[in-house]
Amino acid sequence: MQLVIFDWKWTLYHPPSKQLLPGAKELIEHLHAKDVKMVLVGKDQGGNMDEIVDKLDVRKYFHDIRFIKSAKTPEIFKEYIKELVPDQVWVIGDRIRGEIDTGNKVNARTVWMKVGNFSNEGPRSKEEEPDYTFHSLHDLLGLFGGAGDSAETEADG
Ligand SMILES: [Mg+2]
Repeated sequence: MQLVIFDWKWTLYHPPSKQLLPGAKELIEHLHAKDVKMVLVGKDQGGNMDEIVDKLDVRKYFHDIRFIKSAKTPEIFKEYIKELVPDQVWVIGDRIRGEIDTGNKVNARTVWMKVGNFSNEGPRSKEEEPDYTFHSLHDLLGLFGGAGDSAETEADG
C-alpha cells in the first residue's frame, strides 16, 4: 500500500458532532507510521472544512488536502496516483456514486464506509461495487494490520 485517497465527511469526519469518526485518528496514525502517503479529497459544500481540519489537528498527516466544488473525477485521483501501480492505491469513502465509482475507474482498491445518509445507496452495477465494505473504521484498521477487530464484512476482494 503506497497511497490512500480519503474522503472527509462521513468517512473520517462526523458532521453532526464536528468531530472525527471513531477510529479515524487511530487509522490515520497507523498508516502514517507505516509511511503510507495519504491525501484528503473532500467536497466543498461550505462550512469551512479547512478550518475544521486544522482544529482537529490532522493536517500534518496528509500529503495534500483539498475540498472541491465539482464531482470527484478520475482525473483528480490520477493527479495523485501518477506512476504508482493502481493496486498500491486505496480509495476510501462513504459514497458509492462518488469515491467508490471513481476509485474503481482508476483501478484502485476501493473501501466503502457504509455509514451515514448514503449507507443505503448501494451499488447498482459491477462498476460501482467496492472491493471492501466496512461499518466502522476500527474494522478497517484490522484489514490494514492495525489493532482493529478485523471483522471485515461483505468483502469480495
Ligand atoms: Mg463523504
